[in-house]
Parts: sequence; structure tokens; C-alpha cells
Amino acid sequence: MAVLKSINPFDPSRIINYPQLSDMSLAIRLGRSHSTFAQYRTTSFEERSELINRAAVLLRERSRELAEEITREMGKPLSEAEAEVKKCAWVCEYYAENAALFLEERVVETEADESRVIYEPLGPILAVMPWNFPFWQVFRFAAPALMAGNTVLLKHASNVQGCAGTIENVFKEAGFEEGIFQNLAIGSDRVAAVIASEYVKAVTLTGSEQAGVSVASEAGRHLKKCVLELGGSNAFVVLNDANRELALNLALPARMQNGGQSCIAAKRFILESWIAEDFIPLLVEKVRDLLTGDPMEEETQVGPLVSITQAKEVEDQVNRSVEMGAKLLLGGERNGAFYQPTILTGVVPGMPVFEEEVFGPVYAIMEASSPEHALELSNQSDFGLGMQLFTDSEHSTELFIKGAEEGAVFVNAMVKSDPRLPFGGTKKSGYGRELSEEGIREFVNIKTIWIG
Ligand code: NAP
Repeated sequence: MAVLKSINPFDPSRIINYPQLSDMSLAIRLGRSHSTFAQYRTTSFEERSELINRAAVLLRERSRELAEEITREMGKPLSEAEAEVKKCAWVCEYYAENAALFLEERVVETEADESRVIYEPLGPILAVMPWNFPFWQVFRFAAPALMAGNTVLLKHASNVQGCAGTIENVFKEAGFEEGIFQNLAIGSDRVAAVIASEYVKAVTLTGSEQAGVSVASEAGRHLKKCVLELGGSNAFVVLNDANRELALNLALPARMQNGGQSCIAAKRFILESWIAEDFIPLLVEKVRDLLTGDPMEEETQVGPLVSITQAKEVEDQVNRSVEMGAKLLLGGERNGAFYQPTILTGVVPGMPVFEEEVFGPVYAIMEASSPEHALELSNQSDFGLGMQLFTDSEHSTELFIKGAEEGAVFVNAMVKSDPRLPFGGTKKSGYGRELSEEGIREFVNIKTIWIG
């Protein structure tokens, strides 16, 4: 079986090989997840809260050390990695406090003597996760799943197996019995077999469209519940009446967070014609000033992309768009896994930077003749994760809230995930929700009780 390789994107000569689990070890872990569930499901919310709060304490205490591991494996600037670890602590604390309330039994008045709805855990849930937020993606699923009383099997991306093992250890050290949270060091070619296991009750995937099709097909074949959090090509719409400074300031983190490798990053910039004239040169200045370098250095704002392959893919998407008529205002150069922050104008539907998800630091800018035209362009995407709108007009705000075909609309703010609010997409961005009350209810048996 091929080893799983963790390659430091800043220095690709630094490689750590992780052996895959043998078929026998995999079977043991699946069985353990099942047998531990029988006991874990009987624990109270108070007991689970205590455990998950302990995990939060460990995350906060070790945020720097864990951030270094993230940065070594996937290259994001250290400060962003540390913020990611702290956000994981937050989601643990959030569900420790709120899970009991979200899953409280609900009495319903009917003609029965008594009728109510109760929420029970399903069992072992498989979580197939990506490398781009190697801690956050795992915790935002695991915190509610564990608080609901499920056990978790993590199949993390092959290139972040260091983080995967560390996360397993955090849960163990927090006091979760072995078997409640387990890492499965396996390649994606073995995911189908895990979904097929009689012990696995449901699956969640955060990843690309192709992986989504594959995981959803396998889950469908075995009639198992499936949640998909897939890619996005979020619009960043700035109308003529917007607060220009606010939009400019947020255009940086909205696109550049995680080196542009975020599902909810703003990817298509739709500017109403009049504001575009001022906005574009100011944006060029700001983006040009970003400090690129070693992601382990505190002041670095832009690190390498996750791999040379990823950087080459972004380069190709930009080059093909330029060949189709997009204008390169800034950047466009690649050096190993580094891809320069890049600004393209004159983007139109049909170009790769409009149609495809661009997982890198590229601003694809286009102009709209009116708010209605901006909405039309925003919706003209196969993806539907979220969009951000900048305007001072109530009319335009209503237009977008009602008209946007997305899982989220953020007005005068950038799209972000927040444990208190549901998160998920429409169209090719997937289905189901994570976070908030909706997220914890994805992996429970909603049981109806009727006593006549
Ligand atoms: P990816 O290639 O789809 O990988 C994600 C996970 O799926 C990895 O664990 C991968 O394992 C596994 N996988 C890949 N192909 C599979 C298959 N055919 N069957 C079963 N499992 C499979 O995605 P990525 O490149 O790591 O992550 C980037 C993508 O994730 C982007 O499209 C991004 O937008 C999306 N994403 C979405 C969200 C969201 O919340 N909506 C959040 C973050 C990222 P291996 O590594 O072993 O191949």
C-alpha cells in the first residue's frame, strides 16, 4: 500500500511518510468505533461537555505548537494557523454549552396521551476531510457529532496525516475513551470500503466536487446519510453606493485568507461600473504591499500554496483566462509552490477564472451595469456556497437577500463560518449544513414517540 506523504510546501525536500493502516488494523478500528458507541451513547450531556471542554483547553494551551504543525504541512502563515486552532477551541466550547439545548426533547400536542420528539445518536460517522483547514474542518464536524453521542472515524487528506494524528491525540488526552475518535490513515481509494462497512452509519465529506460525487454515490449505494461541503466560487459584489473603504479593507482577507485556498473565499469580484474605476487601482496597491515569504515568520502575509501542483493549476487557470481576453494587472508569476497575488480585470463568463473554482490568490474582476446585472452574474455559477454584498441601499440588500441562490448572504461583511450560524451550500457546493443547531441535527435519529 502506498505511504501517505506529508510534504512541506515551503521546502518540498522535507517529506514525512506515514504508513497506511493495514486492512486488519482498519477493521479493528471500525469494530472499536462500533463497540465503543454502545457505551458512549449512554453518557450524559454533562459528561460529554466536560470532555469536549477539556479538548478546548488543550487546544488553547497548545495553539502555537499546533499551528506550527499546520504550517509545516500545508503552508499557511503561522498567524492564520494559530487563529484556526483557537477557532476549534471555540466550536468545542460552543457545543459543550449548547448541545443539550439543541437536542432537548420536544413535546408536541396531539390527540395522543403523550407525543414527543427525541434526538438520538446514529453511531460511527465517517468524516472525509480536506487539507486546507486541517484542524477547523475536523473540529467543526467532530464537536457537534461527539456532543450528540456519535463516535467519529476521521479519514483526513493524505498530505496532512501529521495533523490528523495530533487531533486524535488531543481527543485522547482530553479523556475521550479510545474508539470515540479515531484517525484512519488510509488513501481515498479505501473510502468506499469504509462507507460500505456495516458499522458506519453515515458519512460527511468536505472537499472537491469529484470527491463529492464519489462519496455521495457510495453512500447512496448503501443508503446511508451523507452531508457534502464542497467547493465555492463566491461573488464579492460592490455596488456604486457602497462604503468603498470597508469593501476595500475586506477584499484582502476575503480573497487572501489561507493563500486563497478557502471554499468560502471571494473568488469573483463584481463591481458596479462607476465604483470600479476607483476601487481597482486602490486594490492593486493594497495587494502589491502584501508580504510574501516563509510562512513560519510572524510577519508573513502570503505563504506558498499547498503544493507545486496546486500552484501550477492556478497558473494554468489564469493563463487560459488571459488567452481568452482577461487583462493581467498584477502578479501572474509562479515560483515553485508560490503563486504571486494576482489581479485580473475584464473577466467574463466562460473564462476559467469565472467558471471554475480558483484555489489560490487570484482576483477575477468584472463589471456590472446595475445591481440587477450584478445579481445575475453572482448567480451565474455552478456553485452556491455564499456571497458578500457591499451597498448602502435597502432596496439592493433586499434584492440580493431574496435573489441570491446561495447558502449564505453577507451584507457589508465578508463571508465566514461561525459556530452560531448554519454553514453549507446549494448547487455544486453540496448539501446539508454544519454548525449551529442545524449542524448537530444532521447526524441524529429524530425519533417520534406516540403514547396512545
Ligand atoms: P479533495 O481532493 O476532494 O480531498 C478532500 C478529501 O477527500 C481528502 O481526504 C481526500 O483524500 C478525499 N478524497 C478525494 N477523492 C476522493 C474520492 N474519490 N473518494 C473518497 N474520498 C476522496 O479536496 P482537497 O483538494 O483536499 O480540498 C479542496 C476542496 O475542498 C476545494 O474544492 C474546497 O472548496 C473544498 N472545501 C469545501 C469546504 C466547505 O465547507 N464547503 C471547506 C473546505 C474545503 P486524499 O487526500 O487521500 O486524496
